[in-house]
Amino acid sequence: MTRTETRRIPVASPVIGARERELVLAALDAGEVSSMGRFVRQFEQGFADYVGMPHGIATANGTVALHLTLKAMGVRPGDEVIVPALTFVATANAVAYCGATPVLADVDPVYGNLAPAALEARITSSTRGIIVVHLYGHPADFGPIEAIAARHGLWIVEDAAEAHGAEYHGRKAGGLAAVSIFSFYGNKIITTGEGGMVLARDETLTARMRVLRDHGMTPGRRYFHEVVGFNYRMTNLQAALGVAQLERLDEFVGRRRHVAATYARLLAGARGVRVFGEEPWAKSAQWMASIEVDPAAGWNRDRLIADLSAVGVETRPFFIPLSRLPLYEQPPGTYPCAERLGGQALNLPSGATLSDADLEYVTTAIRDCAPR
Ligand SMILES: *Cc1c(COP(=O)(O)O)cnc(C)c1O
Repeated sequence: MTRTETRRIPVASPVIGARERELVLAALDAGEVSSMGRFVRQFEQGFADYVGMPHGIATANGTVALHLTLKAMGVRPGDEVIVPALTFVATANAVAYCGATPVLADVDPVYGNLAPAALEARITSSTRGIIVVHLYGHPADFGPIEAIAARHGLWIVEDAAEAHGAEYHGRKAGGLAAVSIFSFYGNKIITTGEGGMVLARDETLTARMRVLRDHGMTPGRRYFHEVVGFNYRMTNLQAALGVAQLERLDEFVGRRRHVAATYARLLAGARGVRVFGEEPWAKSAQWMASIEVDPAAGWNRDRLIADLSAVGVETRPFFIPLSRLPLYEQPPGTYPCAERLGGQALNLPSGATLSDADLEYVTTAIRDCAPR
């Protein structure tokens, strides 16, 4: 590897091809540029079918998909909703939008997903439900969480924003709970630019979400409003992009899994480096291929990120645990696994367009950064 190379390997980049152009242009040519148009329903049904859920409600982004869900389920001030301590901030913010309190629970030490063992102690008489996140594409251990929720009469919402195509015991992520949400932001596994979707089993809840998504307008009575709704709609242009992307979702997931497996092979034996794999019961979507470095072996995560950047390898630190954000701050040490992963793990270039030569370049660069 030559240090003078001007190679730049991004963490993520969308794959937009001829089919995406074709369908977006079709939407434009039909004049169907806002939320009226054939692609919205087609994308909703296609994506719901893919995951194995009856109903899809397309939204402007993943964050409002979560807000819409919690609002439709009646989350209100005084309620508590349990969220993993390690996730993107939107998971907790959606709870806060409802005036409710996000209560943090620690995560498992290996994948950073909500730890069933940490969950029960966080339940109070105000707890209404649990948001389960499939972090970086690896499914959470849903079975034990579901058992705890059932025992306490709590609902579960899956935040599957990072887990399109992931599986838990052969069942698709986003199809495990009664309600789930996805994001189609530009760096997610499939994209609509900005975009999101709620998937739901229940017809009544679905109907309520469709009303709330469209200014709270009573179905069948134009400009008649009985509730404060939102404009959380997805446009037909976005949905056209989504329909085209959905056709290639399995291919993209396969590509990302190849990327993660290649990192694991090429970094095998590197001292103080752990490559994120998957549980025997899991098929990870590997949204972000990740490694954890061990400070005891001399690694410093943030120095590694800077050194890799200097040779053109873009990476991202793990999310800062919610408990370490001023917004949701808790005393240090309260969520040890979230804090450890948040400080020691990073995402490597993970896009579906990376070549094997890129992956070799990345792993050689990491080995070159090894502490001596
Ligand atoms: C991306 C993401 C979201 C929010 O999705 P947007 O479409 O960016 O609003 C929510 N939760 C998690 C875990 C995410 O990664």
